[in-house]
Amino acid sequence: AEPVLTISGLNVDYGTDAHAVHALRDIDLTLHRGEVLGLAGESGSGKSTLAYAVTRLLSPPGVITGGAVHYHRPGGDRVDILSLEADQLRAFRWQELSIVFQGAMNSLNPVHTVHSQLTDVLAAHRPELRKRQRTSRAQELLSLVGISADRLAAYPHQLSGGMRQRVMIAMALALEPEIVIMDEPTTALDVVMQRQILRRLVRLREQLNFSVVFITHDISLLIEFSDRIAIMYGGRIVEEAGAAEIYRDPRHPYSDGLLHSFPALHGPRRELTGIPGSPPHLSAMPTGCAFHPRCGKAFEPCAGQVPVLAPPTDGPGRAVACHLHT
Ligand code: SF4
Ligand code: MG
Repeated sequence: AEPVLTISGLNVDYGTDAHAVHALRDIDLTLHRGEVLGLAGESGSGKSTLAYAVTRLLSPPGVITGGAVHYHRPGGDRVDILSLEADQLRAFRWQELSIVFQGAMNSLNPVHTVHSQLTDVLAAHRPELRKRQRTSRAQELLSLVGISADRLAAYPHQLSGGMRQRVMIAMALALEPEIVIMDEPTTALDVVMQRQILRRLVRLREQLNFSVVFITHDISLLIEFSDRIAIMYGGRIVEEAGAAEIYRDPRHPYSDGLLHSFPALHGPRRELTGIPGSPPHLSAMPTGCAFHPRCGKAFEPCAGQVPVLAPPTDGPGRAVACHLHT
């Protein structure tokens, strides 16, 4: 499939002085048209920072210190996201790329109805639509996320958390963006609701053909709903492969540890071992492979050399950053 978003060599620091810490290093990642790309990793691994950097929502002390991010329009135009001016950026967001953050449901305006919030987005970006058309589009959007049109008149407090989060997803889809980035979009909801929303989103993706970057610390949700998964640790991508491939045959010891921290989806039960220790602080990143203090397989080069993300020796189509595989 063709790329819709390419990230290359992206570096992000927090701070600019001698105390600056590396939040993201050497991120290379491609999102293809129509796919769900899952980003996994413990908190502090850089997942959200990556979402903020790519959407130009990173605020100080976060600063992009290198690399490039390109959006590829359906016609073939390439947009350099990192050099968009403020007005171009406003048009770009919502229309070509939109974002749903964790707890987005709390960003609905409590004193406006769902109707007025949905139609405001449409009025701001689609001035050619008449009032009637905006209302019918708002109804259509609600039904896309499984909410009946009579809830248009509701105020946010009259809706459940799950419904409010679905309204935010409807808003994100209002202008038919090519890319939807979801950072822990369902984390605040119960498990049944999380699955319902994600199932619906994946179905919508098939209908509308947008691409999704799905970020969550819940690797079982990622395996279930993503086509491909990138696993982050200490600000780097340490493994990238198809979701089924990573589930069956993780190559990076950290991926293996993550997969053994939740019960098997199907098949034989497996031992839940988890990962000893805790993720590193940005200000005290271990040398070499940042995972080495927690890795049961660490050997001679691990503390000294940063492993490069590359296809493992036995084949292409996936990539891993670990000295065991070079
Ligand atoms: Fe473990 Fe070394 Fe591989 Fe890092 S590079 S995951 S420390 S074996
Ligand atoms: Mg986060």
